Amino acid sequence: MSDFSASKIQSVRADFPILSRSIYGKPLVYLDNAATTQKPRSVIEAISDYYLYDNANVHRGVHYLSQQATGAFEDVRKKVASFVNAGSSNEIIFARGATEAINLAAWSYCETFLNAGDEILVSALEHHSNIVPWQVACQRKGAHLKVIPVTPEGELNMGAFAHLLGKNTKMVAVSHISNTLGTINPIAEIVEMAHHRDIPVFVDGAQGLSHGPVDVQALDCDFYAFSAHKMYGPMGIGGLFGKTKWLEKMEPYQLGGEMIDKVTFEKTTYNEIPYKFEAGTPNVADVMGLGAAIGYLEGLGWDFIKAQEADLLSYTTARLQEIEGVKIIGTASEKAAIVSFLIEGIHFFDAGTILDHLGIAVRTGNHCTQPLMDFLGISGTLRASMSFYNTRQEIDILVEGIHKVKKLFA
Ligand code: PMP
Repeated sequence: MSDFSASKIQSVRADFPILSRSIYGKPLVYLDNAATTQKPRSVIEAISDYYLYDNANVHRGVHYLSQQATGAFEDVRKKVASFVNAGSSNEIIFARGATEAINLAAWSYCETFLNAGDEILVSALEHHSNIVPWQVACQRKGAHLKVIPVTPEGELNMGAFAHLLGKNTKMVAVSHISNTLGTINPIAEIVEMAHHRDIPVFVDGAQGLSHGPVDVQALDCDFYAFSAHKMYGPMGIGGLFGKTKWLEKMEPYQLGGEMIDKVTFEKTTYNEIPYKFEAGTPNVADVMGLGAAIGYLEGLGWDFIKAQEADLLSYTTARLQEIEGVKIIGTASEKAAIVSFLIEGIHFFDAGTILDHLGIAVRTGNHCTQPLMDFLGISGTLRASMSFYNTRQEIDILVEGIHKVKKLFA
């Protein structure tokens, strides 16, 4: 058991109204946190309060509300910078989410620095969002996409990675945590190896920011992308950390208002970072929600979050291993509370549908990692992804559910 009392967990759960609803008359067991986490009331209220009392466009007005909105918006940028320990809040760019942040980095970096014959390394573990933007940039520039293989346990093959790093490598793009297998990749080691050859490292942190503290200066990564909705914040907002030395040189990704300095019909000059990468009216309300989500996580503290999730990971792993015919996919030594598994002889989609009717929300399918599925020789898995608000009792309900699925198919 984690050291935290049941009453502490119940009081945390009370912050998330959705957790007390029922599905088909059964209490909801929400184990799809890698797809999106639920939102505490404070996040929802930050968004509605902004629209109810504070709505105004940012950066454009002399009037009170606009200045207030601008101040609050920029305060969240500082909050994000401090949350990931960026050197400066100018290194934080707001985007729609991890996908847009990856597209921004891939397009702008490759437009500026990638040439024909160059290579970009991604890993076999990546989410499609951290493959396709690099793949298409390579195609556009006549460069090559190379793949770091994974071991059967679901860890990056670091020996193969060392061999792939070469004089033509212009970027290493890897995820912090695999959304499918839960593997926590050794980012600091990857960065050290890449930087030894002056190669920058892009980290897809979509699954990274909710499970433990992230320090981009300690990791020394060049870019780090994230989505608020996977860290208890709203959908439609996220961002990109990028080192100043890259951002200042990179071409802007989108063009329009806000990102300009001076516009004439002959020529346009661009704004400073981060604004050079934030064309148009931003999603201010959801930035307020992101600020509240960070406040919520800081209030809970990483000790609580990490202890709860570590307990749920080991409990889930042990309980699933007890069930005959259940095979866990992904057994890396460093894992977040994400467990993929298969039930022998039963299609994951059928199992997921039956579990759903028992009120249990797990994800089924390839989890947007088709190349990883090909590598593992499977077409999909069931995936239970836990949050600090989940309980051992909920895992017991999942286990009972799997027994019911097996009985039905026997
Ligand atoms: N990368 C990883 C590892 C993810 O898990 C996800 C979301 N499933 C993404 C990227 C894309 O994030 P979003 O859909 O929030 O843009």
